[in-house]
Amino acid sequence: MFEDVPVDVGVMYEGERIRRKNMYIELGGPNIETKFELVKVRSPDDVEDEKITVVGPDIKDVKEGSSLPFGIYVEVAGKQIEEELEGVIERRIHEYWNYIEGFMHLNQRYDIWIRLSKKSFQKGLNSFNFVGKVLLKLFKNEMTFIEKIQIAFITDPKKVREQWKEAMETYEARDAKARGMKDEDVDKFYGCSLCQSFAPTHVCVITPQRFSNCGAISWFDARASSRIDPKGPLFEIEKGELIDPMKGEYTGANAAVKKKSLGAISQVYLYTAFDYPHTSCGCFESIAFYIPEVDGFGAVHRGFNENTVNGLPFSTMADSTAGGRQVDGFHGISIEYMRSPKFLQADGGWNRIVWINSEIKERVKEFISKELFDKIATEKDVKTVDELKEFLKTHEHPVVKRWKEVPVEVEVETEAAEEQEAPAVAVAPLSATSFTAGGFRIILKDAKIHAKKVIIRTIKKR
Ligand code: SF4
Repeated sequence: MFEDVPVDVGVMYEGERIRRKNMYIELGGPNIETKFELVKVRSPDDVEDEKITVVGPDIKDVKEGSSLPFGIYVEVAGKQIEEELEGVIERRIHEYWNYIEGFMHLNQRYDIWIRLSKKSFQKGLNSFNFVGKVLLKLFKNEMTFIEKIQIAFITDPKKVREQWKEAMETYEARDAKARGMKDEDVDKFYGCSLCQSFAPTHVCVITPQRFSNCGAISWFDARASSRIDPKGPLFEIEKGELIDPMKGEYTGANAAVKKKSLGAISQVYLYTAFDYPHTSCGCFESIAFYIPEVDGFGAVHRGFNENTVNGLPFSTMADSTAGGRQVDGFHGISIEYMRSPKFLQADGGWNRIVWINSEIKERVKEFISKELFDKIATEKDVKTVDELKEFLKTHEHPVVKRWKEVPVEVEVETEAAEEQEAPAVAVAPLSATSFTAGGFRIILKDAKIHAKKVIIRTIKKR
């Protein structure tokens, strides 16, 4: 099928990782601001079928080790194609590109990160024309509703910037479409299992108010795809009964996830990061992460390169979050989900967000209440959890009220004379007592403290 391409092509290359030392060039990625992949539906007369264009230097013209601004601009036409399929076709670029030996394609939309290995370059993969040939064939074979397709690969920085602006406007228009719709208003949700090649137990449940984790597929996109390609990775989910409106548990979503994860995941809560949270694949746009010291959540997106307030960068937390698991307090999400009224609804929603990197804060600012906006810290306000605590207190963030209510396990030491072992106290009932620890005032009401051993130690003044 790909005799005219100098490397192998097949599903076995999906998931291939290319380290910097093995990389020939890099397209997009975390150090490049302007990068995108975009699919546009056109009328048949505006598409020259199977045309491949390279705008700017081709692979062979670029110095080894370079990182380039990059755009992939795909135009499609077909009698059955509607605009709502753009996002779904676009998401397949990730899958098909990864079939090419020696290429790694990560993420989506404005976040793409592609690497070509030295080995594949040496085998002759030195032009985007080869990539174009693979993509054209796979798109036409797998998505048979595409009748005409043309692809442009853009490396000229000026052109990338121009079309990046168009791409950003297109993404915003797609995302805005489902805003205002409620999960209660529809009788079907949709699911996606496209990321199972990387995270075998992951299933996205896509609702009007819970966008897909990758941020690339809305409820409308998923609906259009499941209709035109019912055997594809996007499928219908009958909602079934609503078991818990606050956490977002539906019998239909539970059943669909159980079936598609082959029994690995049998229960899913759509609007919380605890207990049975939605699974996280690996290409989520952002992470909501619990910060136990302040009983609140931080949120960070993939493009943030510094350490977050808990001292960890996005990449480290992504490792703990990904893989199709349900991880308490580490939640892979899209940025669009942060704009939803159901965003972490069961956990307190925005009232529970205490830290967010400034770029996302700016992008979602219209969806944070005016009263709350300045109470949420960013990397410009605080660098550590201790600084965050002070910030939250000074700014009277609503989460501060929760601190008094948090049940805690405590080790009690009393001030007395020399260290000595007292007889074991099985149960010491207390009607009410309070003490201060780590900047918190902790109140125990009607508490019973069980202790195997009580150590009484003198506190020596230095
Ligand atoms: S993140 Fe979800 S919706 Fe997006 S491609 Fe993966 S499985 Fe599909």
